[in-house]
Amino acid sequence: MQRETQLQIEKSSSLGHTHDYDIIVVGAGPSGMSAAICAARAQLKVLVLDKAIPGGEASTAYRVDNYLGFPGGVMGLDLARQMEEHMRTFNIDFVCATVDDVRSMGPLDQKVSTDMGRTFLTKAVILSVGLEPKPLGREFEKRFFGRGVSYYAQGDGRSYQGQHVAVIGGGNCACYAAEYLAEHVDRLYLIHRSGHIKAVKSLHDKVLSNPKIQPIWNSEVEDAFGVDKIEKIKVYNTVTGQSIWLDVKCIFVYVGRMPPKEILNLNLQLDEDGYIITDEYMRTSLPGIYAAGDARSKQIRQIATAVADGMIAAVNAGRDISSTGAR
Ligand SMILES: Cc1cc2nc3c(=O)[nH]c(=O)nc-3n(C[C@H](O)[C@H](O)[C@H](O)COP(=O)(O)OP(=O)(O)OC[C@H]3O[C@@H](n4cnc5c(N)ncnc54)[C@H](O)[C@@H]3O)c2cc1C
Repeated sequence: MQRETQLQIEKSSSLGHTHDYDIIVVGAGPSGMSAAICAARAQLKVLVLDKAIPGGEASTAYRVDNYLGFPGGVMGLDLARQMEEHMRTFNIDFVCATVDDVRSMGPLDQKVSTDMGRTFLTKAVILSVGLEPKPLGREFEKRFFGRGVSYYAQGDGRSYQGQHVAVIGGGNCACYAAEYLAEHVDRLYLIHRSGHIKAVKSLHDKVLSNPKIQPIWNSEVEDAFGVDKIEKIKVYNTVTGQSIWLDVKCIFVYVGRMPPKEILNLNLQLDEDGYIITDEYMRTSLPGIYAAGDARSKQIRQIATAVADGMIAAVNAGRDISSTGAR
């Protein structure tokens, strides 16, 4: 975070203004940045909070080839940087902090707190918190986290240059991770519990024709062993009932993503899988709280739909603020 920005915010908070901001956006992924830009263009005072640098999951995508305006595709990280640069051209405050509490005290009265002990008052909140990686749920996962268990191929992959690793999963994200890792590692086992992968055709073909990638079908990782770090894994074949051992230095887990468990202590209406229910205006069940992007209950979770959600949320938050005469 820029120190100057933080100082400005502290000054405005300490003056005891009724509201520090018109809109606070929680999360600076594609949906959050899109919401922030749209709100700032409407002359609303906006703060974006993110526990990491802006970009969200888009920055973890190896290559994005389905976002309009980039013939030939764009690296996820480059796209995320351009989105951030775009956001920074507007008068938008950004603070790097984890939001640990959002309180709704009325349609135009929300309180947002961070793990750094800061509290901001705002008229509206847009939740753009995205998803978290789904764990395998095995005991070894926590034991070896950061020491041979990773959920982030783009970030950790280069450390395994020339070595043997495994990717667990068989969807688009697992295949993108495998495609990226195969550029760095010597051998990659793609371990999937079913007998085929579920990625889009072009990706599917690329992964299965890559000589460095060896698919291991109908299989689950049962256990992992190593002194300090993972050295080998035990893989169980659910069809034959037999287990094999593989020497790998890291397993990259891509078995799905899920919404954050408790969405910031808000008593929001969620669907059966924990996604935030909104109407088509991105309003949640609580007045003044909007949701956009992957955390929302919807059919397609992609950058394009996240960007669209963010814009719709910001427009409607702005309209709702104006219609109550609060601006
Ligand atoms: C490996 C991979 C590859 C992908 N490839 C593609 C692709 O090729 N094309 C495509 O269209 N889509 C792709 N996607 C999906 C796309 O990245 C997402 O749909 C999109 O990023 C969703 O945007 P979002 O803003 O809803 O959430 P996210 O991008 O997940 O952003 C959420 C942000 O919220 C922040 N946050 C969460 N909780 C808090 C908190 N409590 N306090 C503060 N900050 C918080 C996070 O740090 C994060 O920055 C891919 C996803 C993955 C994982």
